[in-house]
Amino acid sequence: MPNAEFRFYEELNDFLPPERRKCRLLYRAADRASVKHAIEALGVPHTEVELILANGESVDFAYTVKEGDVISVYPQFESLDITPVLRVRERSLREPRFIADSHLGALAKKLRMLGFDTRYQNNYTDSEMARISAAERRVVLTRDRDLLMQRVITHGCYIRALDSRQQLAQVLSRLDLYGSIAPFTRCMCCNAMLAPVQKDAVLHRLPPKTAQYYERYWICAGCERVYWEGSHYRRMQQLIGDLGNNGTAGNPED
Ligand SMILES: [Zn+2]
Repeated sequence: MPNAEFRFYEELNDFLPPERRKCRLLYRAADRASVKHAIEALGVPHTEVELILANGESVDFAYTVKEGDVISVYPQFESLDITPVLRVRERSLREPRFIADSHLGALAKKLRMLGFDTRYQNNYTDSEMARISAAERRVVLTRDRDLLMQRVITHGCYIRALDSRQQLAQVLSRLDLYGSIAPFTRCMCCNAMLAPVQKDAVLHRLPPKTAQYYERYWICAGCERVYWEGSHYRRMQQLIGDLGNNGTAGNPED
């Protein structure tokens, strides 16, 4: 059973017990254990890891831990772009799609409001979440680290904050999504796509004052909910403003 030294960097320490944070950890790995297995046995979900160095060389999750190894484990770098060959997985999924666990309904709505494809139900089981994530290549959003340790999940994001606005900011910044915000494209309620619709076609469904003040409308292809640039639009602008990223929201036809 090889003895190796592990060091976890930055926020990966949050997954360790306090006395094990930010220090060298001696760890006796099982024979032929992969570095992925050892990292998770120490408490850190593999989805949170972006780079592993074994004795100074970058390795992938399948690397076998050897006697005397010095292993450094890093989360995603916020501002420093490391070359793709060093990463333990492909760069973020090309068009990010999400599946949010049952505690993250408010976050799911906000992601949809900004145009991001986000599956959410308040009764998904862990195995359903894992299966859908793998089949549809969706990033798992959760505060449950055991869920992120499931083998079939390749892309996940451990949500640290409790407040849904802070959660949204965390997801957008970790996956670098500020440039991909697309308002009025997706239904907050059911995640289906929105399409522009003539006012006349939905007039009978609008509150009287709404029809008076607004000209542009969208309808959900799934639940047929009607959207307009009223309170929804203001909430969305407020949300984006709160993220410290004024100016990203705009007319979807611009
Ligand atoms: Zn809908």
